[in-house]
Amino acid sequence: MENYIVSSRKYRPITFKSVIGQKSLVTTLKNAIKKKKIAHAYLFCGPRGVGKTTCARIFAKTINCTCLKIDGEACNECESCKSFKENRSYNIYELDAASNNSVDNIRYLTDQVRIPPQIGIYKVYIIDEVHMLSTSAFNAFLKTLEEPPEHVVFILATTEKYKIIPTILSRCQIYNFNRITVNDIINNLEYIAKKENIYTEKEALNIIAQKAEGGMRDALTIFDQMINFSSSKITYKSIVENLNILDYKYYFQLSKSILTGNISYGLLILDEIIKNGFDVQQIIVGLADFFRDVMICKDPQTITLFETSATIKTQYLNLSKQFQNIFLYKAIELSNEYELNYRHSINKRLLIELLLIRLCQLYSQYPIEKNKEEIIKEQKHENFLKKKQVTINGNNSILKLENSNSSKINILQQQVLCENQQNDLEKELKQYIYEECGLSVKQSQEITVKFLKHNHVQIIVFNSEQLDELNLKKNVIKDFLYKKLQSNKIELDILIIEAKQIYDSINTNMDKFEFLTKKNPSLITFVKTFNLKY
Ligand SMILES: [Zn+2]
Repeated sequence: MENYIVSSRKYRPITFKSVIGQKSLVTTLKNAIKKKKIAHAYLFCGPRGVGKTTCARIFAKTINCTCLKIDGEACNECESCKSFKENRSYNIYELDAASNNSVDNIRYLTDQVRIPPQIGIYKVYIIDEVHMLSTSAFNAFLKTLEEPPEHVVFILATTEKYKIIPTILSRCQIYNFNRITVNDIINNLEYIAKKENIYTEKEALNIIAQKAEGGMRDALTIFDQMINFSSSKITYKSIVENLNILDYKYYFQLSKSILTGNISYGLLILDEIIKNGFDVQQIIVGLADFFRDVMICKDPQTITLFETSATIKTQYLNLSKQFQNIFLYKAIELSNEYELNYRHSINKRLLIELLLIRLCQLYSQYPIEKNKEEIIKEQKHENFLKKKQVTINGNNSILKLENSNSSKINILQQQVLCENQQNDLEKELKQYIYEECGLSVKQSQEITVKFLKHNHVQIIVFNSEQLDELNLKKNVIKDFLYKKLQSNKIELDILIIEAKQIYDSINTNMDKFEFLTKKNPSLITFVKTFNLKY
């Protein structure tokens, strides 16, 4: 692998424009250069691998460029720019404070500082990991920082700003570098992959970006590793296998077992995950993260916090609709609790299995609430019904509706009642018949009610006495239905069906027997006593 250059070096940005994910900061720096307002000391803070040193180098090159472009970028062509490009400029000096943190290192540096540049304008001193300097080195450095020569610019970089003493902080212009977003990392990786002729899957790049936690350098290191593993191809599968990533798809499977209460299915998934070499703690931590991600996807305001590719986001969004918030809060809490118990637990595997069972139980306590839109729709419908005050004009059963709105009523009339509404109305109707028509409770329960289209209601009774009773009260029953169905057009049929007819219409002997025992429960004892077959 001769001439192999790692991607983080090969694709290191050389202009402000190509710096990734630090837009506003870069603009401020460029503006300062355009206005020639160069400070003597800068402090670049932020996580590792987000471009602090890269920006420091571009800054050093740009302020030394002899034919600066209008947009504040270096020309990359003048003698100074060329010397920077070829790493032979004397105007840039880099010190890694992590390995050179003694007073002597700093003294050497401060001695150098006095000598003005031979070509160019500024000598730029970049001190990386500046928080690593010893206290005495810090103090030695402070003197120079208080009164730096005109031609000197210090750029201090650190991942741990809080470790920098206030006397230094107060003398620097401070720039805070952001973590690079998952999308920015993915886009950059895609760009590089294209240049290098490497096939990539978006989901794979997404994992790399997540794993890099906002650092482009780390992302590129993983990217290079993956190319070595799987020659010019970065697939989701190869990533999951090589980086020992707990595939988010497993968590979707686990949540399916929670949603359906199918514990055995969940246990099999856990077994598969453990067999693939993941330890229990990793699974539990991942589970808490997973529920957190589902939770933030539930709210349109927080979904932006979930950094991932659009396709995966959609999957989470859909899943989130199946959980109540209260379940998710409690699930996260529970997972955290089990993670804390992890160390003390002797049987780790049992611990995660128990957690799964607890989650299944938890879900059964908080099953999914009705879709909000559905509830609003129902409420609107109820309100609409309440508004319609129905008055019935005595014997003539003429219905008068206040605020009569015929078009809306028409819609109602066309509707076939949904199953729940039918069941409720059937119960009320039977109760009404029991109270008003002289039928016994048992008789009123036995009658059959059918709701057909266009408010056509059929009541089916078993014998002619019942038929006569109900026919006498037909108008009263109709009035009852007018009220309940909010309609002035109701067709009511009262029919009789003989037990024999029903009996004949039943297909199997078993069902026939059941029908008969309903009519006469003592049949069961009869059959048992005589050991009969049916
Ligand atoms: Zn130049």
